[in-house]
Amino acid sequence: MKKIGKYMLVLFLVMGLVLSVTACGQQDESTEGDKEGAKGEPQEEVVLKVGTEPTFPPFEVLDPKTDKIMGFDIDLIEAIAAESGYKVEVQDLGFDALIPALQSGTIDIIASGMTITDERKEQIDFTAPYINAGLALAVAEGNTDIKSVEDLKGKKVSVQIGTTGAIKAEELKEQGIVKEVKIYDTVDVVMAEVARGTVDASINDLPVTLEYINKGHTEIKIVGDPMTSEEYGFAVAKGKEDLLKKLDDGLKKVIESGKYAELLEKYNLPESSQPK
Ligand code: GLN
Repeated sequence: MKKIGKYMLVLFLVMGLVLSVTACGQQDESTEGDKEGAKGEPQEEVVLKVGTEPTFPPFEVLDPKTDKIMGFDIDLIEAIAAESGYKVEVQDLGFDALIPALQSGTIDIIASGMTITDERKEQIDFTAPYINAGLALAVAEGNTDIKSVEDLKGKKVSVQIGTTGAIKAEELKEQGIVKEVKIYDTVDVVMAEVARGTVDASINDLPVTLEYINKGHTEIKIVGDPMTSEEYGFAVAKGKEDLLKKLDDGLKKVIESGKYAELLEKYNLPESSQPK
């Protein structure tokens, strides 16, 4: 019994030694971290949550290779956030879920080709405009009877939920022009329905419809002049003045540095896309 007691004592001593050495190792690591802090480097990085609806090329779309969301808006908001030393984390949300998500604090920023409108300005705050766009009418390639909005009498139109295109289509319906408005969650379906002929036309942002056509949807064509002139802004919740100012300042810097022009080129957007 006595012998066993001695062995136990030795065992405890060895264990104690091992534990204290391990603890020292950990201590060393945390001191290292503290030293970094003392040098003035940020101890914790700020990650801004960005919400977007990714069926909107070239502004936001799922990269089939990586399954990650990429596009002009993503690159631009990343560059803007980096000007303040911030990182971004992108979340995929329905277009009609973006404003509620911003208001509930689920996300910090909307970067989703969102048009600055007076109605939305009552709910959220926008940065300075970063893109000029407008709505375009698209029909099936073989369609010869719809050449402009005037030809939409009695026709079925597809749009994305919660968008300015949807508002326009509803207006045309109230005016007794469009017969039926088919509302879909995503723009890929809006386009597919035109190609399939289940609707006669779609109303969607011109640069996006153009990108669908250029990326292989040659069964669709744009007709008539742009129906509206719109500007996109990034949005934050009301009362987030600091964040809004950081984004506006960042946007200015990204334009001045030439990075903005680089991104227009990368995504094949014309120079006229830049708001004056
Ligand atoms: N610019 C349009 C809007 O704000 C469409 C945006 C979108 O579908 N992502 O309503």
